[in-house]
Amino acid sequence: MKRAWTCVAALILASAFAPALLRAQWKTYWSYDGPAGSTHWGDLDPAYAACKSGKQQSPIDIRNARKAELPALRFEYASGSLKYLINNGYTIRVNYHDAPGTGNFLLVGNKRYHLTQFHFHCPSEEWVQGKPYAMEVHLMHEAADGSVVGVAVFLKAGSMNSTVEQIWRHTPKMKSHEEEVPGVDINPDELRPRDTAYYIYQGSLTAPPCTEGVTWIVLKTAVEISAEQLAAFAKLYPHDVRPIQPLNGRIVREGP
Ligand SMILES: [Zn+2]
Repeated sequence: MKRAWTCVAALILASAFAPALLRAQWKTYWSYDGPAGSTHWGDLDPAYAACKSGKQQSPIDIRNARKAELPALRFEYASGSLKYLINNGYTIRVNYHDAPGTGNFLLVGNKRYHLTQFHFHCPSEEWVQGKPYAMEVHLMHEAADGSVVGVAVFLKAGSMNSTVEQIWRHTPKMKSHEEEVPGVDINPDELRPRDTAYYIYQGSLTAPPCTEGVTWIVLKTAVEISAEQLAAFAKLYPHDVRPIQPLNGRIVREGP
């Protein structure tokens, strides 16, 4: 498939340049492919058991979604300085460490979640009707009661995205720590479509420890980034995706 080709074609190139990976956030090493790859995650560490035994795992292939009255989404995202940028050996991620009550918010109905971090996958982890998109951004949110909502936005080739451009341009070489980028602003609002129609289902983190209890909101409308921006990410991370997980009877709902 042409859209996914970008990622796969760069695989050999990227592995040739992969340095010793620094993955300080995780006690036990894991990877997307090979001996520590996704089919082995549940055996690598008891803390990763849910990757194997969980029955509500992510990502999924979204099919046969059930029409439903769903709460409206409101994104209260704003421009802010680019900081806590990390290239962690698995993806490029922007972490937010905002004081309580400040930062970027998502309202699901009237429940308020704050944006804790966002990161990228190539190709997309979630599929729709058996097909991945070129890339996906995961915008992770948490409410005051600890509940977690992940917003998945598909990315496809089209016009250049200026927030993605700033992030790519300033991405540090692979490191175990976050960096601040003085004098550069990004706006996470540029990473989501204006149309907020979505799918919703109960799932998990898509990397170890595969913790369940994550509500995934998958926006139906993709956001465009340029072919050059897709290629640039694929050169770093050509395949940072977990395979599709079984639904095990879960219902995916969809609404406007
Ligand atoms: Zn993710």
